[in-house]
Amino acid sequence: MPSDDDRVSLVRCEDYAPEQVAAAVRRAVDLLGGLDRFISPGQRVLVKPNLLQPVAPDECVTTHPEMVTAVARMLRDHGCEVVIADSAGGGTPYTEARLRKLYDITGMSGAAEAAGAELGLDATYREVACPEGRVIKRFQVITPAAEADAIVVVSKAKTHVLTAMTGATKCIFGVLPGMEKPSFHGRLPDLEGFCDMLLDLNLAMRPELQIMDAVMGMEGDGPSGGEPRRIGAVLAAADPVALDIVAAGLMGFRAEDLPTIRRAAERGMAPDGLRVKVVGEEPGSLTVTDFKHSSSTAASKLGVGAPVLGRLLRAYALRPVVSKERCNGCGRCARSCPRETIRVVRGKARISHGRCIRCYCCHEMCENRAIELRRSTGGRFIARIMEGRNARSDLSPDEQS
Ligand code: SF4
Ligand code: SF4
Repeated sequence: MPSDDDRVSLVRCEDYAPEQVAAAVRRAVDLLGGLDRFISPGQRVLVKPNLLQPVAPDECVTTHPEMVTAVARMLRDHGCEVVIADSAGGGTPYTEARLRKLYDITGMSGAAEAAGAELGLDATYREVACPEGRVIKRFQVITPAAEADAIVVVSKAKTHVLTAMTGATKCIFGVLPGMEKPSFHGRLPDLEGFCDMLLDLNLAMRPELQIMDAVMGMEGDGPSGGEPRRIGAVLAAADPVALDIVAAGLMGFRAEDLPTIRRAAERGMAPDGLRVKVVGEEPGSLTVTDFKHSSSTAASKLGVGAPVLGRLLRAYALRPVVSKERCNGCGRCARSCPRETIRVVRGKARISHGRCIRCYCCHEMCENRAIELRRSTGGRFIARIMEGRNARSDLSPDEQS
């Protein structure tokens, strides 16, 4: 990455029937020239799904196990040794017991068994260098990722309250263990720096192949608080940014509005003009035009890192607010908060907003959907002005006059 192959394959896949998923994955890879172009027989390959939380597959928070089974089986048939591994979202202790729970609940244990693959239960991590990194030169990554000869990322198409969309480029964040994830929000509190870090991590890990589960995506306040939404597609590519450009279109985004893609373009890590050659289905036939975006997405349209607007942006950005009815005091949000600004008091989470950097790790990690994202009074005022401005810019010059 950047890859000299900007092609993205797009294949229709209506549901998670095993034969249908296996055929779609195989066709998506064949449309790019076949597995031999990316992976050699005999290699030890990490299959890296998105396993944000230990929740059941039909919640659409995680990559579906049928996708992972299909990819792992294809690699086994190719003569590879396959390990399936990821680490859960920020603040989750990175231990063998937690990994077992994560793999069992998300269906990865069954996927590994069905495909004859190994589960990554090694809860150690290693340092990898990133000499080309813009903001980070060294990462601590989970050992199965550091030791693999090749990496195949199997991402999930979801909205995201911080980065608007999570797909291929962001999926690699899961190779950072435990507290490493929230620590990056603390070290890089502005969105621009965070996106640069994601691009650096892709440079460090250099996955050989990207496959995306967009059979069922997540709309609304993803990556965990949204709702499942059918897209009906499987995508594959060598380049994660190219794949995300096509996936963004299927989810009703303009690629240039997405901060990670915009940063990639600014760094010369995206296809020229964000133009991608799609092979297979015509994207228009699978685009979900009314895909609901996150309530925070409008914030990113104000521009990544707009320094003069710093204070206004902070007021405008949605704040995490605890629902006392739904909070059970488990403390997961407090452990995930890079600013240590959440405490559990009398069985309920309490947030001190003064130090909050709006990274939304707490929202992402709460399994009870007890962290809501709301605007302050000042933020609502700014939102009204911005929404009025955006509505006007959508009008033709005649309509505006
Ligand atoms: S807000 Fe969610 S994660 Fe935080 S303590 Fe309450 S239930 Fe647990
Ligand atoms: S309280 Fe603020 S800083 Fe802490 S995790 Fe939530 S959004 Fe991030």
